[in-house]
Amino acid sequence: MAAGAVIVGGGQAGFEAAASLRAEGYQSPITLLGEEPHLPYQRPPLSKGFVLDKQGLDEIELRPQSFYRDHGIEVRVGERVVHVNREGRSVRLKSGESIPYDSVVLAVGARNRSLPIDGAELDGVLYLRTLDESRELKSRVQRAQSVVVIGGGFIGLELAAVARTLGKSVTVLEAQPRLMPRVVAPAISEFYRELHTSQGATVVCGAMVSEIVGAGGKVRAVAVGGGRSFPADVVLVGIGVVPNVELAQGAGLKVGNGIIVDDCLRTSDPAIYAVGDCAEHPNTFAGGRVRLESVQNACDQARCAAAAIAGRRAPYAALPWFWTDQYDVRLQMAGLSQKYDQTVTRGDIAARKFSVFYFKDGRLVAVDSVNRPADHMIARRLLAAKTVVTPADAADESVDLKKLGR
Ligand SMILES: Cc1cc2nc3c(=O)[nH]c(=O)nc-3n(C[C@H](O)[C@H](O)[C@H](O)COP(=O)(O)OP(=O)(O)OC[C@H]3O[C@@H](n4cnc5c(N)ncnc54)[C@H](O)[C@@H]3O)c2cc1C
Repeated sequence: MAAGAVIVGGGQAGFEAAASLRAEGYQSPITLLGEEPHLPYQRPPLSKGFVLDKQGLDEIELRPQSFYRDHGIEVRVGERVVHVNREGRSVRLKSGESIPYDSVVLAVGARNRSLPIDGAELDGVLYLRTLDESRELKSRVQRAQSVVVIGGGFIGLELAAVARTLGKSVTVLEAQPRLMPRVVAPAISEFYRELHTSQGATVVCGAMVSEIVGAGGKVRAVAVGGGRSFPADVVLVGIGVVPNVELAQGAGLKVGNGIIVDDCLRTSDPAIYAVGDCAEHPNTFAGGRVRLESVQNACDQARCAAAAIAGRRAPYAALPWFWTDQYDVRLQMAGLSQKYDQTVTRGDIAARKFSVFYFKDGRLVAVDSVNRPADHMIARRLLAAKTVVTPADAADESVDLKKLGR
């Protein structure tokens, strides 16, 4: 009997790989191994609806237990894979058990980057990646008075909005001169600074955190360079993630800023694939190799890897897209804006409905839409088709973008 496919990691990408293998008609056994004690679930609600009790566990689980039974997928939760034995074609669990494979999908995700400063180990310093951490964070924030968020990126700002919604005094500390600096244009950073400030949060940019100050083992304040200090009984740290590459490294696979894969998500061993947050892949929209952290990337890569395992070549060429919800404002991002040299704005910033179009050498490379879902959907089509859009057309509301490229 065939050993089948073993998927390591029961997150978004792991789930999608398992489900897609069956959708591709894969007949051999599928084993999904997840370290967390839960069935695969969506992470985005952990810093949005779930943490505010607007969504329950049943709503964030990707599928109920019956789905796995009905599709012949063996899901094993609470199981950590500690070694991939390439010669013997098996993975070893922490318990010592070995499971044979024909193909492996590494969908091991990423973990939070920790703060390398004094006081980071104090009680009350929290990170958010998992469902259990989201529950813990909710109960701590509910009991807190003052919350300091370290990091003005997506997760930090979503958590700042959550803490303000729960009525807490909130300070956001961002080391760079503006919010979300690596991923959005200054106009969007400024919009978000005003949004958070108007909701009563204090936003401090250019704030280099030097120490978390405690008393009796508990956090009391966050100190920044220049002698300023901000009182806190909870500190939420959102300063990015690092990919989980150790399993791949231990198996002798090539690793860079993630597990290195080709356009079909194959690692340097053709029987082993890597998908999602852990995979460094060639991406035509990035113009090179990149590692992305998004639901879109996790799902689309998992589908391509599943197709390859099932014998159908389907190179990964999906347009990157992403979203973040803060208060009643949804930012939707299409494309990768990193190397832009020009932006134009369409819509009304004051009315909180606008899009920023990013160009590189006159070519549209990305569109960020604030409360303009129709712009986002059109942008995805235009960017995926590499349709020519001029900055003048993008800025002119009388030009119907839907009609471009048709
Ligand atoms: C709070 C939060 C909010 C987010 N919001 C958004 C959003 O609004 N929009 C968006 O597009 N993206 C968002 N993201 C990012 C998105 O959730 C991730 O990009 C996506 O979950 C990546 O999926 P993945 O399967 O690659 O990794 P993960 O979801 O991290 O899953 C990896 C799993 O592998 C397990 N694992 C690791 N090593 C082993 C091992 N050795 N053995 C067994 N299991 C192992 C881990 O425990 C984990 O459960 C958010 C992320 C977080 C944390």
